[in-house]
Amino acid sequence: MEFKPSHCPYCGEDLSAVLEEERERLYCEACDRIVWRNASPVSAIIVKKEEKILLVKRGIEPGKGEWSLPAGFLEYEEEPAKAAVRELEEETGLKVGKEDLNLIEALNIERFEGQRLVALVYEAEAEKASENISSGSDADDARYWDIEELKEDEEEVLRSHFLEVIGESS
Ligand SMILES: [Zn+2]
Repeated sequence: MEFKPSHCPYCGEDLSAVLEEERERLYCEACDRIVWRNASPVSAIIVKKEEKILLVKRGIEPGKGEWSLPAGFLEYEEEPAKAAVRELEEETGLKVGKEDLNLIEALNIERFEGQRLVALVYEAEAEKASENISSGSDADDARYWDIEELKEDEEEVLRSHFLEVIGESS
């Protein structure tokens, strides 16, 4: 399935395809406007503790049961680093200051069902975060994974682009 609108978000009419700037774009004839497609921004966070990183087990679809970095979509007006801090607390109970985050990667990736994301990946040392992990909303479990263990366990752990950045950050 391709993640692509078939109706105009402004008036609800069917969209057609036009060629604009050498790319096929979605066009609404009724509004006489191009409906732009953009990748959706998400923030993700790597919390590192020695040679371990914190992952959460997704509690909702898509990808229910898979292990992933704490991550989520930005609210409309939300600063990316704040979204990373918020998602970390929501999914793991850990609190960390925005000033303790380093931006380490900005990726355009395909995630579920052909949806494209701009993933801003932050990193924080575990010493900077509060101590008690408790899996929260959207997450069934949260724990530290040994980086070596991650490389071995392909069945259980989602081998996503999010995880590929681990190699670069360690
Ligand atoms: Zn329209």
